[in-house]
Amino acid sequence: MTSGSPASLCRAAAVIVVAGFALAQTQPARGEEEKKGFFSKMFGGGKTEEKPAEKPAEPKEEPKAESKPKSTSNSKSKSTASKSKTEPAKTTTTPKKAEPKPAVVEKKTETPKTTPKVETKPTPAPQPKAVATMTANVKKEVKPSATNPWHIIDVGGRDYVTLESIRNFYNPLFGFTGFRQQGNHIWLMSNKLVIKAQIGSQDLLMNNMKFILSFPIISHGNNTLISRLDLVKLVDPILNPSHIQGAEYFDTVVVDAGHGGHDAGARGVYGYEKDFALKMAQHLRTALMARGFKVVLTRSTDTFISLGGRVSIANAIPNSIFISLHLNSGGSTASGIETWALTPQNAAATISRGGGYNVNGVTGNKQDSANIALASAVQARVLSTVKVVDRGIKRAQWSVLTGIKKPGILFEGGFVTNSKECLLIASESYQKTVAAAIADAVMNYRKALEPAMVNRR
Ligand SMILES: [Zn+2]
Repeated sequence: MTSGSPASLCRAAAVIVVAGFALAQTQPARGEEEKKGFFSKMFGGGKTEEKPAEKPAEPKEEPKAESKPKSTSNSKSKSTASKSKTEPAKTTTTPKKAEPKPAVVEKKTETPKTTPKVETKPTPAPQPKAVATMTANVKKEVKPSATNPWHIIDVGGRDYVTLESIRNFYNPLFGFTGFRQQGNHIWLMSNKLVIKAQIGSQDLLMNNMKFILSFPIISHGNNTLISRLDLVKLVDPILNPSHIQGAEYFDTVVVDAGHGGHDAGARGVYGYEKDFALKMAQHLRTALMARGFKVVLTRSTDTFISLGGRVSIANAIPNSIFISLHLNSGGSTASGIETWALTPQNAAATISRGGGYNVNGVTGNKQDSANIALASAVQARVLSTVKVVDRGIKRAQWSVLTGIKKPGILFEGGFVTNSKECLLIASESYQKTVAAAIADAVMNYRKALEPAMVNRR
């Protein structure tokens, strides 16, 4: 457990924190209205809209044959992506080649129905920075037609889709009223949804929620392009969650408190990550059970469990999803929450640590879309509930996510290395409020995906 002195400091300051926190709740974070709107439209109602849009096709990028996964059951696999990270870079710099990683390769089954037919070769080494304004080297272009809504352009061996065809495709769902470009900034607007993109950037804001793209937005001629992989693996699951394929009905949540025992996780100003994570897990269990879910904790005491062990526990529980809870570490001023989903196959991770560029198809699984939907539901709900910095929805190949055969996310509930934020994290009121928000998000996620769920009740 935490050593005495941080804990008592923590208690001493709790009153102040609770007061500050209550105040924070009455002063909505910037953009809260949009986030609530986003949340209720994307993950609140889950109502089926009139026009079931066909899913855009995934890029035809197959895993290379030689990529042989290593076993994940061995507990020493932990070292590679044990989440003892320091603060990840805020946005991606050049993703490195995928580190050798314990992983389970899943054959992709999330195959789209209707397909804009473009054959592309496997993507060469990733160069997201370099392609920011690339206009040359266009190999193929498929213009939209009566049967194919997608304007697809192959730039540098990677398929991109025009934002205009995204507007056209989702227009029946959202009724876009504006498409504005000012310098490098682009807005796609309706009264339900505002998408903001920036050429050369991997940040994509949807109703003010920050998503980190696998590849930067690029400009090509008169078009602004987003990678087809980001369209399929990120934008579509968010805009159209009721059409996510392969999500199974669940009534159980496996809640994983990160670290434990000799693995204390990040050392915070007022305590250790492992202890805060466990408290949050216990509050989350209570909140989920109050909402009718069954809950399995990977640990309920201060014990060490290998990452492989956590994966095994999760995979043994039927009809479940997986939520791993962590607290972040970084510089003393770093703050905010972030939610991680597994890097899809052939995508770039948000950071190279914990699994870089996923060119070998090492990870990515049939739950890619469900993963990002769950991550978005959680991030959105927590942000609309507490006043914290939005660090975005990110991708990495954390070991605990790689082996999971069900939708799963890793939630970072703030920075224990930031004294102000650690005070918050240490307060029961914050722990309970965040836990309740995550539990609400789980309900909303299930509701949003229910029309598409296999074996739904
Ligand atoms: Zn951690």
